[in-house]
Amino acid sequence: MSQLTGRVALVTGGSRGIGRGIVVKLAEAGAKVAFVYHSNQAAADGLVKELADRGLETWALKADASQKADADRVVETVIEKWGQLDILVNNAGIIRDGLIATMSSENWQAVIDNNLTSVFNFCQAVSRPMMSARFGRIVNMSSVSSEFPNAGQANYAASKAGIEGFSRCMATELAKRGVTVNVVAPGFIETDMTQAVMNAAGDKIKQAIPAKRLGKPEDIAHAVLFLVDPQSSYITGQVLKVDGGLTLGGMG
Ligand code: NAP
Repeated sequence: MSQLTGRVALVTGGSRGIGRGIVVKLAEAGAKVAFVYHSNQAAADGLVKELADRGLETWALKADASQKADADRVVETVIEKWGQLDILVNNAGIIRDGLIATMSSENWQAVIDNNLTSVFNFCQAVSRPMMSARFGRIVNMSSVSSEFPNAGQANYAASKAGIEGFSRCMATELAKRGVTVNVVAPGFIETDMTQAVMNAAGDKIKQAIPAKRLGKPEDIAHAVLFLVDPQSSYITGQVLKVDGGLTLGGMG
């Protein structure tokens, strides 16, 4: 029997990048995995098929994580289909970089809505079912940018710092019901989101990372798997950086 046999997981932003890596890892560990995508249906369908060919059960749902009604609908639908929801990974996120002096209100709000409000939406939707079940594992995706932001990331850094504060509060509220809430904060991971910055400054970035390589989605998925393991029941409200040593502050 695998580590997550009999468990049901929901991953937001599961069709590409880090979220895709998490879907694969949780499915390989034995969970049934539903995941949310926003617009790229081909990527979502491709992942479901690829995993079905390996005998793994996943399900793609189209939704906008920034919308409360969408989050409620997705959580209800998953529980209706599979009878339970044990694991939630809030991974969906976007960037809209720009200096504060010129950042549009639209770009500020879009990042707050997609990155932070989405976490509230899904966490609220799962909180009652998980409390009733006396079991739940929630992992929210932050970034090392919450503590160590680059210029031009005020909206993103604020959204990620918000996720960390939110998660600590939720961990406090739900600990006595068997529900843990933790955060993973990745460094530079090879995905579509980091493609542009890597094209511009890839070698410089690699040199700044003690591990001398970018992270892969699997590196983050591995940390998530550890935190959602039923045995990780005494770890809650924590932020786990997965960054190859990027934020250690050494001089190389
Ligand atoms: P990505 O490659 O751009 O993929 C983003 C995923 O989120 C896609 O599946 C996308 O679906 C989905 N998504 C975006 N907005 C959504 C919405 N409103 N509703 C539902 N789904 C939505 O991003 P990534 O690099 O894998 O990043 C994943 C998470 O890790 C983000 O929270 C990001 O901030 C965080 N992170 C990434 C890095 C990094 O180096 N890559 C570092 C630190 C933190 P569609 O394709 O359908 O639009």
